[in-house]
Amino acid sequence: MRAWAVGRPGPVDGGPLEWVERPVPEPGPGQVRVRVSTCGVCRTDLHLAEGDLLPRRPGVVPGHEVVGVVDRPGPGCSVLSEGDRIGIPWLARTCGTCRFCLAGAENLCTAPAFTGWDLDGGYAEFAVVDERFAYRLPDGVGDVEAAPLLCAGIIGYRALRRAELPPGGRLGIYGFGGSAHLTAQVALAEGATVHVMTRSADARRLALELGAASAQGADDPPPEPLDAAILFAPVGTLVPPALAALDRGGTLAVAGIHLSDIPVLDYQRHLFEERTLRSVTANTRVDGREFLDLAAAVGIRVSAVPYPLDRADRALADLAHDRVDGAAVLVVGGG
Ligand SMILES: [Zn+2]
Ligand SMILES: [Zn+2]
Repeated sequence: MRAWAVGRPGPVDGGPLEWVERPVPEPGPGQVRVRVSTCGVCRTDLHLAEGDLLPRRPGVVPGHEVVGVVDRPGPGCSVLSEGDRIGIPWLARTCGTCRFCLAGAENLCTAPAFTGWDLDGGYAEFAVVDERFAYRLPDGVGDVEAAPLLCAGIIGYRALRRAELPPGGRLGIYGFGGSAHLTAQVALAEGATVHVMTRSADARRLALELGAASAQGADDPPPEPLDAAILFAPVGTLVPPALAALDRGGTLAVAGIHLSDIPVLDYQRHLFEERTLRSVTANTRVDGREFLDLAAAVGIRVSAVPYPLDRADRALADLAHDRVDGAAVLVVGGG
């Protein structure tokens, strides 16, 4: 099969990905093999290609927003069968026995494995997945649209829950890209008032079109105090203005896996009156199932930009240089 592998991590314009020929993988016990139809291009793939995220295995195939159809179940599979349309997400395996797994917080597992980092991902014609970590995908969401739901959507949803927005509350969203525009739609459908802060005029327009109450510059104050806020932009300098925008008792959740340095905080302005600052780390399978059900119920709108599989290098470069208007998605199979 054809696939992309992380050859020598480095700047995206130097071509860190290699276009390779690989044997079609065989599913092991409890795994299914998927004929890949689409695979989303996530910023984490870019971090991996560029070496910000150290490769855990040389020559790994990136991609953790994988949509496809099971073409071969491995020995002992009991959940999925041939012909099922499924999604393969970032969380590929947890240990099931550490204190976090046992407490229902498998996103904090001390020995997890991730798709497209530890295990080969979906920048390829085939991929295998542990059937317990795959998701069945809602009918009515196409293969291209479903891909970004599997990481951008699920992580954004966890960030929304971590922000503890009260029913009918006022939510601030800082940065408005692939993950944020999905999260905003869930919050709006649940009755939130949403204020968006972003530097991009196009993103501000999209936010208002989706139903946001206001849209302003990245560090402008929102028109009213916020009960909760989510920081999607990987920009630490936005933490102080986002905390200052919170009402008493409000929570700011930082959604990204990377954040640039946070400037010194002023206790009175940024934290006192029980404001809370918290991070978001991966997700549980419960988060994933809840979000995919909600996305289908809400009729979520996904703005996706398709690329053929053999242009994955181009898709990553476009993402690096902010040239993608929406979520980049590799189209692999004949659909
Ligand atoms: Zn564990
Ligand atoms: Zn991702």
